[in-house]
Amino acid sequence: MRLATYRDADGVHGAVAVGEALVDIDAIAAAAGLAPSAVPGGWTARAVLELSPEDRDRLAAAAVAAAPDATARLADVELLPPLTDPDKVVCVGLNYVDHAAEITLAVPERPILFAKYRTSLVGHGARVVVPPITEQPDYEAELAIVIGRTCRDVPRSDALSCIAGVMPFNDVSARDLQTATSQWMPGKALDTFAPCGPVLVLVDEIDDLLDLTVVGRLNGEVVQQASTADMLFPIDELVSFVSSIMTLVPGDIIATGTPPGVGWGRTPPQYLQDGDEFSVEIGGVATLTNTIVRTPAAPDRPLAVASEGLGL
Ligand code: ZN
Repeated sequence: MRLATYRDADGVHGAVAVGEALVDIDAIAAAAGLAPSAVPGGWTARAVLELSPEDRDRLAAAAVAAAPDATARLADVELLPPLTDPDKVVCVGLNYVDHAAEITLAVPERPILFAKYRTSLVGHGARVVVPPITEQPDYEAELAIVIGRTCRDVPRSDALSCIAGVMPFNDVSARDLQTATSQWMPGKALDTFAPCGPVLVLVDEIDDLLDLTVVGRLNGEVVQQASTADMLFPIDELVSFVSSIMTLVPGDIIATGTPPGVGWGRTPPQYLQDGDEFSVEIGGVATLTNTIVRTPAAPDRPLAVASEGLGL
């Protein structure tokens, strides 16, 4: 099953994507035997993650039955992030050895974690708006996993069972802000800097969670290409590690790091320009595309950065 969230004149809708059709979950809740009032404001994709497997199967069947009559189509509506209300967005840094090498940083001995927030999340087709505070916006094609059940201190052997699904994710990064202080967060958590989607693909449609291709395309040209099998810390280890620090709940997003090929790693570095289009494809699953908009620079606001040591 694939979940999405879209907005039209009537408001925001959690939906099941069946091919190109988007089936409003509220419209089929009764047919699926779900209580219409279970979630204030209507059913969301996140709420679906908390259903029992039996309820979820009934919802999937009702969506397939309703798809021929659905009026919303993936290509026609304004897509929001598949999950608009996650409790957490945890990101992993330097999780591919070759990416650490290209930006001349040491391979970490344990996962590097940082946070993004809901205000960074945007959907497929949305604009990534670069504010004047950064001169170095960059892309990072990534696999994001979404947690499906509440868990804490999960052993690695049980960690995959905590994952509800996956989606393409672009960990857009402002390199000057990222490197200006020891904490990466200012360069990572800007509004609109976490595009994801277009859909959340649940694990029933995934053959091997540990071996998915990640492809990043800048204006149609492949600039990043790897398998998640190349990760320094595979996703089962990541879930186990993060859950040893904090309780994970359904809908939590973990962006699992980017392979080599970012603009920062080029000689000279090549940052995102106004009008650039960046796509993240998770092999055989889904493709996320967004356009970059750089707002005019504010006058007389030089940005002090500590990037010289990184050879930029
Ligand atoms: Zn990243």
